[in-house]
Amino acid sequence: MANPAPFRFDNSFARDLPGFYVPWNPVTAPQPRLLFLNHPLAEELGFDVGALDERERAELFAGNRLPEGAQPIAQAYAGHQFGGFSPQLGDGRALLLGEVVDRLGRRRDLAFKGSGRTPFSRGGDGKAAVGPMLREVVVGEAMHALGVPTTRALAVAATGEPVHRERTLPGAVLTRVAASHLRVGSFEYFAARGETGRVRQLADYAIARHDPQLAGADERYLGLLKAVAERQARLVAQWMNLGFIHGVMNTDNMTISGETIDYGPCAFVEAYDPEAVFSSIDHHGRYAFANQPRIARWNLARLAETLLPLFDADQQRAVERATEVIDGFPAMFEQAWRRGQAAKLGMDPAGVVTDADGALADDWLALLQSQRVDFTLGWRRLADAAAGDEAALLSLFARPEELQPWLARWRERLARDDPGGGGSAVQAQAARAQAMRTVSPFLIPRNHRVEEVLAAASEAGDLAPLESLLDALRHPFAEGPRQRAWADPAAPELTAAYRTFCGT
Ligand code: AMP
Ligand code: MG
Repeated sequence: MANPAPFRFDNSFARDLPGFYVPWNPVTAPQPRLLFLNHPLAEELGFDVGALDERERAELFAGNRLPEGAQPIAQAYAGHQFGGFSPQLGDGRALLLGEVVDRLGRRRDLAFKGSGRTPFSRGGDGKAAVGPMLREVVVGEAMHALGVPTTRALAVAATGEPVHRERTLPGAVLTRVAASHLRVGSFEYFAARGETGRVRQLADYAIARHDPQLAGADERYLGLLKAVAERQARLVAQWMNLGFIHGVMNTDNMTISGETIDYGPCAFVEAYDPEAVFSSIDHHGRYAFANQPRIARWNLARLAETLLPLFDADQQRAVERATEVIDGFPAMFEQAWRRGQAAKLGMDPAGVVTDADGALADDWLALLQSQRVDFTLGWRRLADAAAGDEAALLSLFARPEELQPWLARWRERLARDDPGGGGSAVQAQAARAQAMRTVSPFLIPRNHRVEEVLAAASEAGDLAPLESLLDALRHPFAEGPRQRAWADPAAPELTAAYRTFCGT
């Protein structure tokens, strides 16, 4: 039987970077069954879903029949994990199939996760379980709908094979779509081996792919570092303004593209707590909510170190140049974060964000924290307050009177943005509330609901709850019945006991 050719591959990584990977094939799944197919994403990729019958799709996405044009490879990378350096990680349970240029002309990686052992597997089995792969579906699609750059799930196929973790779980293969799979750790792999030529090759490849305007420029490698830093500053600012905790910001999980990658132990904060940590293996809170900007900077410093020889032949000079960029990161982050907060506070998006505005945001967060208010609903109900309805907001606070002075300050600040003349005050208020509702979602993937739909899918084989949650999450800024069904925070006891698990 001929292999299906649903994608038009153009595999630049495999073509341009021999020596950066090992050609490798997925293992065969005994009983492939398609659990999820992302139709809107398939459409973007120009993947003709209708050209394959159900069995062919299952075979394709379980890795049993490679699509024509795919050149599966295991990529080499290293990484700092929880601060310690592992010189050899790599695709231990993943394979890059190749790249597809989508309908909008964007080059996108297609990769398997859970497709069997590779030369990078170390002690691992190369497998993935249904639950964690479906978590990538739910959280990735939610992030995408929230406007956050992210890798996305195209499909999940059950393999029909058990995988052995603390318990025996059903196995699965995820097909992941990414702007690329270049990571900070990809550079670290070659830098740690003293292979400066290869670091340069990789940097040139990254520039061609993500920052083509830098190609041929004098200081292109420094430009690349700056561009990555800017993307990460914007990304982490978006996370922070949505209450997202990545959970495992190791350098092998930080992309050059600026997309969020690897939804392992991630979680969304509920009752606001900047120290929130959910990951069962993050004992020291390294990846706690409020620590994420610092970690991003730390990771970027590791990237900068790999690029030093490319910045300047004079080492001291190279270090100075790199340091300038890394030291500039907190300001980059702060600007993106404060801009995001200003929009959530209902301020004029074109206006200047002052220190006083920053203090207003800080004091708001302090109120959410001291009264353990749900982060998402707190911001959302602030939009209602902007429209004149304070009751729902006040009801979130145990001691609402403590919010009153802040509300007065906030209103005063907003009054300064109000356009004089034209339109009624009520219209202006409604427009502001509407704008706030486009940046403060009503629905996020709540941890307890995600666990619930994953358990139904993994343990009972029931995918209906997942489909229903996904359907609501595709419109996270809407507040209709579909969203309401999934929007309630967990009981505080449940959140306090919530733990996420990595490497599953
Ligand atoms: P992750 O925690 O998924 O970011 O993975 C970190 C590293 O561990 C990567 O090199 C993975 O390929 C590898 N890894 C994770 N799980 C497995 C597994 N079950 N089998 C082989 N390698 C794995
Ligand atoms: Mg990873």
